[in-house]
Amino acid sequence: MSGGDPESFRDRIRQIGEMFASIADQAQEMSRDRCPYRDRLDLCTARFRCRNQRPAPAGAERALACGHDGRFDYRTAWEMRPETYEMTRAKLRRIREEAAARRAAAAPEDGG
Ligand code: SF4
Repeated sequence: MSGGDPESFRDRIRQIGEMFASIADQAQEMSRDRCPYRDRLDLCTARFRCRNQRPAPAGAERALACGHDGRFDYRTAWEMRPETYEMTRAKLRRIREEAAARRAAAAPEDGG
């Protein structure tokens, strides 16, 4: 690497530092309103139980959606017991399977 102007190099490092600080500030501000576990489709990616979790719409990539309405600090709803997360997932899976079975039983048969 050829030697450059050390003063110019320090300026660039300082500018990059300011840029990252600005990004971090904005991320922190956004995280107050929007949970970091909420994805772009409003599905919940958390691997723990949260009282804001709701069953995701049929066909969604995940079992749980986020029901947080943005009016209070979402972190108060977090529950840090991972075993309840799996229990909730199993319960939702069972509810979906039962609903699918009921729909299948109620659907008219294609007889042509
Ligand atoms: S349900 Fe809870 S953990 Fe999941 S995205 Fe919403 S607030 Fe975050």
